[in-house]
Amino acid sequence: EAKSAGRNQYCFYQSSTGQQTADELKMEQALRHALQQRQLGVHYQPKVRLNHNTIIGFEALVRWQHPTFGNVPPDSFIPLAEKLGLISALSEQVLDTVCEDINSHGLLGLPVSVNVSVSQLTDPGFCRRLCRQLKQYNVSTHRIELELTESCLIPEQAEATMRLLTELRKQGFRLSIDDFGTGYSSLSYLRRLPIDTLKIDRSFISELPDNEEDSQIALAILAMARALGLEVIAEGIETAVQQDFLLNAGCQTGQGYLFSRPVPVTELDVTEDILV
Ligand code: C2E
Ligand code: MG
Ligand code: MG
Ligand code: MG
Repeated sequence: EAKSAGRNQYCFYQSSTGQQTADELKMEQALRHALQQRQLGVHYQPKVRLNHNTIIGFEALVRWQHPTFGNVPPDSFIPLAEKLGLISALSEQVLDTVCEDINSHGLLGLPVSVNVSVSQLTDPGFCRRLCRQLKQYNVSTHRIELELTESCLIPEQAEATMRLLTELRKQGFRLSIDDFGTGYSSLSYLRRLPIDTLKIDRSFISELPDNEEDSQIALAILAMARALGLEVIAEGIETAVQQDFLLNAGCQTGQGYLFSRPVPVTELDVTEDILV
């Protein structure tokens, strides 16, 4: 499994001599241990309807609090898990937690999205095992959205990816393209994919509205999504000015620190579905 993991992420963990440093080895051991002991946590960030600040769903984000390393960011340990062939085990634990949280906290009855890594998509048993796992918890596939990055959509595997996404959709999962605009997927490929939503990458949102190029890119993505009949959600909204810009541009949903950081599930128990 590890060999099909993201090529561009590999070298991050190797020094220029190709040798691992002691720190990297310690991190590897710690991650294996954390998975064995099921120490990873999950936080939830609300997805919001921008005109009324009502919550329409949540994104589940994995968290790793290590006794000595402290809070290790997913952007560093997810690639490591990919490299070590541990991403399926990690993802399974995240989904276990999401299902438990849905069953014991409700999460307002709203859809929850989970992030999918590239090597999961090349795993032939992926859809079957996802469905089996949800069944164990009696959680409907309609409750779960899968977020795939553009880098998951390897052109050489276009046909296999198409089959898998079609199957996932048929099983009731909603599908979205994460970090949209940062990858290289051709528009003709994208148009054929059975997806529901594009998530505009945070990098295009953070300098709105002053950055003219970013503004044009955001508008172009919104226009394209409309033309293709896709939903759009803007990631990383931090200011009311960004929210207003997006609303005026016809973007109806968003996520970001302006509304809420990712929080533990217990904080959602006291949350109404409106954020003020
Ligand atoms: P992502 O899926 O694009 O998730 C959005 C990231 O942006 C999250 O970082 C979130 O905390 C952060 N974020 C949200 N709103 C704002 C904002 O307003 N400003 C800023 N500066 N950041 C914001 P996080 O949790 O560190 O996750 C980073 C990435 O790690 C995720 O990007 C995703 O690609 C990956 N990841 C996280 N959890 C999982 C998981 O369970 N499985 C897999 N395969 N990948 C995961
Ligand atoms: Mg995501
Ligand atoms: Mg993203
Ligand atoms: Mg990301």
